[in-house]
Amino acid sequence: MKCDVAIIGGGPAGSTVGALLKRYEPSIDVAIIEREHFPREHVGESHLPAISQILDEIGVWDKVEAANFPVKIGGTYRWGATDELWDLSFIPGQTFMDVPRPGKYEGQRRQTAFQVDRSVYDKVLLDHARGLGCNVNEGVKVTIVETDGDRVTGLKLSSLESEIEARYYVDCSGDAGILRRAFDIGVESPTALRNIAIWDYWQDAEWAITLGTGGTLIQIMSLGWGWLWFIPISPTRTSVGFVLPASYYKATGKSKEAIYSEAIKAEPLISKLLSHARPEGVIQATKDWNFVADRLCGDNWFLAGDSCGFADPILSAGMTLAHTSGRKVAYIILDLLRGNHDPEWLKSEYTSGHRAQIKHHMQFADFWYSSNGRFTDLKEYCSEIAETAGLTLDADSAFRWLATGGFALEAPGVARALSYSVSGIKYVTQQLSGSDWDWQVAKTNLWLLKLSDATEENFAVFEAGCISKLKCYRRGDKILPVTGVYQRVLESLKKDVDAILVINSCLEVMTTQDGYSSAVAMTLIGETIEALIAEGWVKAKVNSQRPMVPMA
Ligand SMILES: Cc1cc2nc3c(=O)[nH]c(=O)nc-3n(C[C@H](O)[C@H](O)[C@H](O)COP(=O)(O)OP(=O)(O)OC[C@H]3O[C@@H](n4cnc5c(N)ncnc54)[C@H](O)[C@@H]3O)c2cc1C
Repeated sequence: MKCDVAIIGGGPAGSTVGALLKRYEPSIDVAIIEREHFPREHVGESHLPAISQILDEIGVWDKVEAANFPVKIGGTYRWGATDELWDLSFIPGQTFMDVPRPGKYEGQRRQTAFQVDRSVYDKVLLDHARGLGCNVNEGVKVTIVETDGDRVTGLKLSSLESEIEARYYVDCSGDAGILRRAFDIGVESPTALRNIAIWDYWQDAEWAITLGTGGTLIQIMSLGWGWLWFIPISPTRTSVGFVLPASYYKATGKSKEAIYSEAIKAEPLISKLLSHARPEGVIQATKDWNFVADRLCGDNWFLAGDSCGFADPILSAGMTLAHTSGRKVAYIILDLLRGNHDPEWLKSEYTSGHRAQIKHHMQFADFWYSSNGRFTDLKEYCSEIAETAGLTLDADSAFRWLATGGFALEAPGVARALSYSVSGIKYVTQQLSGSDWDWQVAKTNLWLLKLSDATEENFAVFEAGCISKLKCYRRGDKILPVTGVYQRVLESLKKDVDAILVINSCLEVMTTQDGYSSAVAMTLIGETIEALIAEGWVKAKVNSQRPMVPMA
């Protein structure tokens, strides 16, 4: 069997790579090799809104919507400094308009996500990739990877009685990491988090029935010795899991079934929601998932999805990283086939960008765990994480520390990180640390741009099936892109240092040339400058002779 691109694994990462290759270049011959027959069960149900955009790009959003998964508008947390519940919403300050379903990818639905039954979701995606022309082989396992130096020369398959040869190979095999292991790629785990998850599915949980088709908030509830997730994944089925440190689990000497049922009984809100529900009774467990691979590509191969690395499920980010990395790999292969850009530059952009994103998520997960005052039995574990991470816990320093992971990589032109806006991250740091934070943009009024020790380079932007080079400033692993809101803010900061003048000239351009309303432009400018200050691109000072900027 010969093809242009062979993809190992038909999960979300594999389907994304295959579907995008065919969508943008239908003549490419793509094979997907999947060892299971779909539908197959898989943990990892709670999406983030960034996925919705990719589903739309692939052309599968309507099919996913038609599967009637609950619409996720955020999460409710019992976590951090107090016992009070708090919400993290994808549509802050707005009420979700419960429009009839199936709905369209428009209006508020662009800001929402799904909670998916993976057995259904992964099949919808794989069937869609097949429909676009991918040669999907289910029930076929890659058994041997044949290599020559840093090249893959072929894959031996379990049941096609043959080999597959391709120009490019993509490892989307999840934690199996088929190519990563074949090339003996090292992994690192820059976190002290060593957790175990135990989960089961429940039928007819209260919330799943009453709110299953409206906008839902997943429930994340911490106990003294771990935390529970409660995620409705269909109108009648709910995923309920418990995560705790592996060492603590071992020390209890209890079975996973006993720990799981004790945790549910100990959490009043979740035990109430499950009081009339029936567990499916297939308790599953997995542990030690935090890692990032040293290398994400080689001569003619790439890793995408979990095979690149994974950060703790507290962030609900695994699927987002799977879809976004799959998308980038598809774009790079398209570009390599077209011969547009230097292959080494493309590969290094992918490796440095995606590795940085995974590591940033690990850093964020460290913060979530170490700043949870409700982990009464896990105080030592929390301080160990805090010590390893070098964490201080007040909201301002936590925000600045998270900013060291960078704000520029996720959405070119807009300051976003870890799937959150700058305001979202500020809100989380406040909730977790229990202390107030300040906006530096509101406390200072002299903003001095610091570019002298940065180099001018290009970074890759992945859009509409093409990769383009955009100018950026780079300092170490930090990027300051000269595009979007960043560009507008940079133009103003190069002209002025006075806060009012900077804001006014930015507002003028963004409202007259870029089509933003002044309220949205003001928020984006404020968030971007805050990110620039936190990342050290702007030195902020106070000039007592001049007014402050009235930030909302
Ligand atoms: C406890 C836990 C909770 C999680 N919760 C969330 C969450 O709430 N939200 C979230 O976004 N993420 C969550 N995740 C992460 C999420 O499950 C993964 O990030 C996601 O499944 C990765 O997708 P993937 O396509 O890379 O890999 P997978 O979905 O694992 O797909 C890999 C595919 O490769 C196939 N395969 C493997 N080996 C071979 C072979 N030799 N030959 C052929 N095929 C092969 C497998 O059968 C599989 O279908 C969680 C993870 C864990 C462990």
